[in-house]
Amino acid sequence: MKPPRFEYFAPRSLEEALALLAQCGERAKILAGGQSLIPLLNFRLIQPEVLIDIGRLRELDYIRGSDGGMAIGALTRQHALECSDAMRSSLPIVAEACRQIGHLPIRHRGTIGGNLAHADPASELPAVMLALDAEFALAGQAGRRTVAASQFFTGALTTALRPGELLVEIRARSLPPRSGSAFLEIARRKGDYALAGAAVVITCDGTGRCQDARIALCAVGATPVRAREAERALVGETPRGEIFGEAAERVAAAIDPPGDIHASAHFRRKLAQYCTRRAIEVAAQRVGGA
Ligand SMILES: Cc1cc2nc3c(=O)[nH]c(=O)nc-3n(C[C@H](O)[C@H](O)[C@H](O)COP(=O)(O)OP(=O)(O)OC[C@H]3O[C@@H](n4cnc5c(N)ncnc54)[C@H](O)[C@@H]3O)c2cc1C
Repeated sequence: MKPPRFEYFAPRSLEEALALLAQCGERAKILAGGQSLIPLLNFRLIQPEVLIDIGRLRELDYIRGSDGGMAIGALTRQHALECSDAMRSSLPIVAEACRQIGHLPIRHRGTIGGNLAHADPASELPAVMLALDAEFALAGQAGRRTVAASQFFTGALTTALRPGELLVEIRARSLPPRSGSAFLEIARRKGDYALAGAAVVITCDGTGRCQDARIALCAVGATPVRAREAERALVGETPRGEIFGEAAERVAAAIDPPGDIHASAHFRRKLAQYCTRRAIEVAAQRVGGA
């Protein structure tokens, strides 16, 4: 399997990349880590005339503390996120979810920007970004704009990115004190895409009651899904099994998962319910702790 012929550019700066992108328009595709794009090319599912390889844009490869949160350059490798001490202490759910993406060699090449721009509904990071209320900085020749994660994923493999735009930075606020988070998924084999997964972030007040809860699911729809009804079951309550079960039931009632050769819709719904309950339990155990 070989890719179709294409013209190849390897810009050295963001400015140069954006100029090329504007010049080539929809004939071009961005190449980052290549872990999703190259298989698509090899299977000839897409046939762009031009590839713009952003792999040399070191200016987009960083993990920084920023304004009460973290800013991550789009070219940051998934493995770097998994190993970053700053990420583990500020947004541990990102590191935890990255460890569940594919296999190590894939995470050494795959970038956070490529993962989010590819927008596979079964991907871990889009759901995590939804649960973190993250924001994405998109750059084009006309300037920059910021899009909330909740507005970014518009369909399966489809995002709010416009022609000529690059995802350049991902920003999320650090978890407040007395917060706990967890990402849990079930896949057929280690390294496979999730059959269902849940990202949970909860914050408690000084009395131990839950004051904020954010839950997002992957692999249960065309986009990652925020489970707001389930969140409402937790807020104001003291974390306990009965409430966790209620929240998980609300997830099962709210989602409309697809059925395919890997899992029926019914089975996927059950898995999502299980993942939600277990992720809430783990997040609650971690409040104020690990
Ligand atoms: C065997 C295997 C197993 C995998 N398992 C998982 C898994 O379990 N979970 C998971 O989430 N992923 C999985 N992946 C995919 C992996 O995470 C990819 O790394 C990721 O989806 C794409 O990132 P990339 O940097 O490789 O992007 P690329 O493959 O280079 O690009 C992907 C798409 O995003 C666009 N793009 C890339 N960067 C940008 C940018 N900065 N701005 C705008 N558009 C951009 C490209 O044009 C392309 O359309 C797997 C891949 C393989 C090969």
